[in-house]
Amino acid sequence: MAVPWCEPCDRFWNPGSVTEEGECPTCGTPVETPPEAEPLPRQKVPWHFWVAITAAGIYLAWRAIQGIGLLF
Ligand SMILES: [Zn+2]
Repeated sequence: MAVPWCEPCDRFWNPGSVTEEGECPTCGTPVETPPEAEPLPRQKVPWHFWVAITAAGIYLAWRAIQGIGLLF
């Protein structure tokens, strides 16, 4: 996680210590608080994952229908 850095004060700030506007509480200089500065690599769900889920759902539904059919 990126730490807010104030150049005039020459110090780091805890992300919770800066003002709501992302400014240094001591000198008011906008410090860098980029929450999106380090974009997380998006976990792409492969298409075959959904195919497998769909197939499993159809299979379970089919088995349920078969199970119900055995009752009669
Ligand atoms: Zn400062």
